[in-house]
Amino acid sequence: MKKTNRGWLPAYCQPDAFLPKVPETRVLFSRRPFLFQDFLGKAMAFLQSGTARKMGFVYRPESALPCKWRCADESLFGVDLCLYAYTGQYPFDKGAIGGMYNEASLGAAAHHGGINMDFGGSHVGYVPGEGGGRFGAIWRPLHQEYSTDCGYLMGVIEPFRKVYDDACRNILVYDPVGERLVVSIPNEFLHPDWSSHHIKLLVDLEAMTAETVDYQDDLPHTHTLVGRSLFYLHPGFIACLSPAQAQAFHTPRPTPMGRALTHQFFNIFDATASLDEAGQPKQKLLPYMKHIVSAAHSPEGLKAAIINTSLNHNALTDAVRSQAFLPYDFVSFTGIFIDLYDDDLQSYVNLFQPLGLTIKPKGCQREVEMTTEEIHHVLGKLPLAPPMLPLEDVLGFSEPEIPLEKFTYQPGYFTRP
Ligand SMILES: [Zn+2]
Repeated sequence: MKKTNRGWLPAYCQPDAFLPKVPETRVLFSRRPFLFQDFLGKAMAFLQSGTARKMGFVYRPESALPCKWRCADESLFGVDLCLYAYTGQYPFDKGAIGGMYNEASLGAAAHHGGINMDFGGSHVGYVPGEGGGRFGAIWRPLHQEYSTDCGYLMGVIEPFRKVYDDACRNILVYDPVGERLVVSIPNEFLHPDWSSHHIKLLVDLEAMTAETVDYQDDLPHTHTLVGRSLFYLHPGFIACLSPAQAQAFHTPRPTPMGRALTHQFFNIFDATASLDEAGQPKQKLLPYMKHIVSAAHSPEGLKAAIINTSLNHNALTDAVRSQAFLPYDFVSFTGIFIDLYDDDLQSYVNLFQPLGLTIKPKGCQREVEMTTEEIHHVLGKLPLAPPMLPLEDVLGFSEPEIPLEKFTYQPGYFTRP
């Protein structure tokens, strides 16, 4: 009889539970990100353009309050300086550590300016290098070493990534007698009680396996190993393998499953996570964790930043639709901040990949929305608006020394460390 272990999953991890979608990394990064100061120059030109007026937005500089929602990390301070240079106003802080939008800030910001110009999102460090570079770390000059960036998000991911990597190394696939692929799974990845770790990774028996390998006295490959269970692989799993992976597994030598452990074939959860009354985790990244740690085209730090940004953008644009904000204009430029350290300038530099732009004109409850592709298309053609204060005076430099061509990441073209 077909076995299942889905009954041990929390409700939010059930494979048939719907998870709202977030933009694909492949699509977002089909174009190189902007240097943030350039993006801002174009964003200000856009707000004063006929295109924005057609969307119902009328720019009134005397009422426009620049706002930021971003992590507290000092590597992002250049974002504040750019907002100051371009608008001549100190930005209002709508952010919190980890790239969260702080809902309590919204009422105050609306009282300070009739137009809120929001610039925000999660951030991720980038170290240029071979194979598309490395995400999730940055040079920290005060420690003279690399450290995580965003430290908060990388800290949330880290224990899940370790358990996932352990599973990739220790779930073994082989073809004992040249007939059928067998998978040998440590029991801690089959039943949560067999693992003392609070992060539980459970292979999805229904998706990955066909049936158990039954013990037969005269067939040594059917003899049970202590701490492991043996199954024949499901044809659906085999169909997902690349030719190189399939070839690597057709050997009598047990071979680690590695990155063939994709999101359709496992679930992962924190048994100690705090849940709300509806059974949803308070840390809203958790339902996405298996996609973050196993993403084929996205380094996990970047994937987590995209998901976190999407969740917070949704919370912000949802909140501004309330009746209380009807008399105000909100313009939200949301994206991923990519932090680099510029050795020559001895300064952090921020790139920005827009993820969405929404405009809620005053008197309206619904916004006009633009995708990454549309933003690149519309803003790409615009000149930079002149800053109110020279960038060189505010930032200490007018443009980075580090060439932006150093950002070589393209989806599918990167090497995992
Ligand atoms: Zn951070």
